[in-house]
Amino acid sequence: MTLSFILIIIGIVVAVVIVAGIVVAVVLTRSHRPAAQVPPAPEPIAGPVEVEADLVEPSATRMVRLRRRLASSNNSLARALANLLAANRLDAATWESFEMTLLTADLGIGPTTELVASLRTKLGVEGSADPATARQVLHDDLLALVDPSFDRELHLEHEPGTPAVVLMVGVNGTGKTTTIGKLARLLVSEGNKVLLGAADTFRAAATEQLTTWGDRVGVPTVTGAEGADPASVAYQAVERGIAEGADVVLVDTAGRLHTKVGLMDELGKVKRVIEKKAPVSEVLLVIDATTGQNGLAQAKVFAEVVDVTGLVLTKLDGSAKGGIVVAVQRELGVPVKLVGLGEGADDLAPFDAEQFVTGLLGE
Ligand code: GDP
Repeated sequence: MTLSFILIIIGIVVAVVIVAGIVVAVVLTRSHRPAAQVPPAPEPIAGPVEVEADLVEPSATRMVRLRRRLASSNNSLARALANLLAANRLDAATWESFEMTLLTADLGIGPTTELVASLRTKLGVEGSADPATARQVLHDDLLALVDPSFDRELHLEHEPGTPAVVLMVGVNGTGKTTTIGKLARLLVSEGNKVLLGAADTFRAAATEQLTTWGDRVGVPTVTGAEGADPASVAYQAVERGIAEGADVVLVDTAGRLHTKVGLMDELGKVKRVIEKKAPVSEVLLVIDATTGQNGLAQAKVFAEVVDVTGLVLTKLDGSAKGGIVVAVQRELGVPVKLVGLGEGADDLAPFDAEQFVTGLLGE
């Protein structure tokens, strides 16, 4: 009796243990179900890439950073200046070679003649000059040629509800699209709401390239079909800029140098049509520094057909022709406002005459 009672108790305990084991096993199995069996959470919809303002180099320090690059790419000019400063005797041969270097650096005949004449007077026709004095004289003369009195601000002030509009013009391949991308990045990092207009409708690649920059920078790009009327794309961009409360609309244009009349009609129409919606704040003419006098001649055609308010000199990093800064300003009567010093997203700097001369002199 007692034994069978004990056996029954043991049986009940064993049964309870087995049931508890099964329950625990089931719970554990459920909680460790492989991830693949859980329905995946919906992917978040990718939004535009945000430009992290902290990662964008502020415009104030860019020219300082790029000064070194400027000095090294213009090393023949920098070397000639250094040779002049170090020369024991400023004889005719020294002056002649100095003059040649200035011309090779695309300073242009007028500015070269003026600079050499001024230096010869100030440093003495023959004989050596005190290096510190010579350096100061050279610095001051170069600075005067670059003309620090020009207003180099980008004027993007605008009425509330109407964006500032920047029209980027110039020969194809000079760097218009790249400059718009770099400028958009800078403006966004400074808190502006920016919109791009792809009014270069002649090449599908140009629209694609601008849209890619827009995506990188996190701003919308208004596009048209290949061959669409550039003026209508520009108009739509400005219209959308107004609707969305943009601060700045940057408009890319085609740089076909077909005929002067054709170019004038095209750019003139783009500008007129935009102005039905908002004033054009800046017309920036992009010039490739590596193309020298030839590029300058082409740029002049653009300056004749549209009122240019500022110049962007690109590829100054790869050019030994820093003197072109002086030449373009002289020829076109418009200040260099921005310089491109590389293909990187932050390699665009507001032009600063003092930093430029300091870079050329390798100071
Ligand atoms: P667009 O036809 O005028 O729009 O010219 P792009 O913007 O397409 O530029 C033409 C080429 O020049 C591209 O390969 C750019 O990366 C390059 N580029 C533009 N700006 C600079 C610059 O400041 N320095 C250098 N080294 N290359 C540049």
